[in-house]
Amino acid sequence: MAKAEVSLEHLFRVFTKPEHNDSTLAKIERHLSDNVSDFLSQHVVTKKTSLEEIEQDFSSAHVPDSPEFVSSHAEALLDKLVAHSVNTYAPTFIGHMTSALPYFHLPLSKLMVGLNQNLVKIETSKAFTPLERQTLGMMHNLIYAQDEDFYSQYLHSAEHSLGAFCSGGTIANITALWVARNLKLGPQPGFSGVNKAGLASAYRHYNIHNLGLMTSRRGHYSLGKAVDVLGIGRDNLLSIDSPRQILEPEKALAFGKAYQEKGNSLLAIIGIAGTTETGHIDPLDELADVAKELGCHFHVDAAWGGATLFSERNRSKLAGIEKADSVTIDAHKQMYVPMGAGMAIFKDPKASNAVRHHAQYILRQGSKDLGATTLEGSRNGMAMMVYSSFHIFGRRGYELLIDRAIDQAHAFADMINAHECFELMTAPVLSLLTYRLRPIELKGLENESSQQQRMLNEQLDELTVSIQKQQREAGKSFVSRTRIEIEKYNNQAITVFRVVLANPLTTNDDLKAILAEQVALAEGHAIWQGLSKHPRAKIA
Ligand SMILES: *Cc1c(COP(=O)(O)O)cnc(C)c1O
Repeated sequence: MAKAEVSLEHLFRVFTKPEHNDSTLAKIERHLSDNVSDFLSQHVVTKKTSLEEIEQDFSSAHVPDSPEFVSSHAEALLDKLVAHSVNTYAPTFIGHMTSALPYFHLPLSKLMVGLNQNLVKIETSKAFTPLERQTLGMMHNLIYAQDEDFYSQYLHSAEHSLGAFCSGGTIANITALWVARNLKLGPQPGFSGVNKAGLASAYRHYNIHNLGLMTSRRGHYSLGKAVDVLGIGRDNLLSIDSPRQILEPEKALAFGKAYQEKGNSLLAIIGIAGTTETGHIDPLDELADVAKELGCHFHVDAAWGGATLFSERNRSKLAGIEKADSVTIDAHKQMYVPMGAGMAIFKDPKASNAVRHHAQYILRQGSKDLGATTLEGSRNGMAMMVYSSFHIFGRRGYELLIDRAIDQAHAFADMINAHECFELMTAPVLSLLTYRLRPIELKGLENESSQQQRMLNEQLDELTVSIQKQQREAGKSFVSRTRIEIEKYNNQAITVFRVVLANPLTTNDDLKAILAEQVALAEGHAIWQGLSKHPRAKIA
């Protein structure tokens, strides 16, 4: 590796002088600006498949002693890092919520990094602060649709906030539940509030045995982190069985009542608008009523599905979301913003005062510093990417993308249903579905004895795991897998392929090719061969 000189003169150049036009870094920049997909398909060329092999390139625990030239470092990055990244732009990469980004984000992120604003306080962000507040207000309006007076009163008010911008759904969920906790265990005569006195005193004062958080079994794992961080404890994350993939209101009510009768208090019910595993939406309207009856906070985790609100045709699937006290949205999922864009939105503009924090040198009383009510401190100007996306796509542009993805999920479900080698496990509600390979000989398996079902499902589970790995390693396409309880199999947990149709560049032919590849892999697999010979008579 070519070493640069160790001098301030060299370092000043690094700060101020761009690389010359034919340097590696300049070439990377040009290629990225010309055609990101082409850049990725040329440079992401996974030759090393095992992580152990890749780890060898990252094995030293020493900070390099001497400076390197930027260009030679860029070469090394291409070779060691970029080559072994994941091409999330590939149209056949349909396993996760991370996909291709629209073009404008590359120059805009350069602008954002170049400006290097810090949103924690006005002094380092100026116009970025009103921009972020407006962006949160637009999202608030999409969910709660208050009148113009409401937004002109609260959008830029120093004593209020319509939400908290943060790095993602996890922090948004934690922020929302932090606010809920501080409101529930707030100050009273003789008690200074949980934020000052701590949880132990709060439980004593309020005479609470345990504080619980209720969600369906499909709740995102960030909720487990939230109850841990907030001191509520993982044992008090009440995950209700959900063989129909939703939190059933009657079950929630009965469970909540029984829980409260034991001297416990319920902090919140979490309704999910688009579960991470299957894309199902909880009955939000009814759950809001249950929360009201149980006297607890109602939070909706719409990290993934929230963008459905852009679609006139599909937004009714989230009916009742406007009754939520708080809502989590991830712009870096179905809103095609680069990672690092989450939002916790609060119905009541005063709610986040429950976590307001002041400090002497920043976040002064009466200031509009966003850092006073956010969990994170220093934050970059990601809100600009959301703001720009709102403008560049418009609600109607997003509507087209959302509707297209949902339509494509239905088309894919039809392909799966029409194919004799597959079984659709959960039909799409949004643009997510699960399925598995299943030989025609096992059609009607749900009608067999539970012992037969169990035995054969276990073999199919093993097949699903093996085919998913083989397909991923072959590198042409990627679907993910998960394990979910399925009602028609007596709530048995079953391993399934999981598909998220997020990339607008994915075509129906890509989907056909993915199914064909899976069939080809299955036909060479011993389990498939064995099950295909399974005489129907023997199942019965
Ligand atoms: C993705 C997701 C989260 C977590 O969001 P991050 O941005 O990964 O922190 C939470 N809830 C749901 C439903 C999600 O889909």
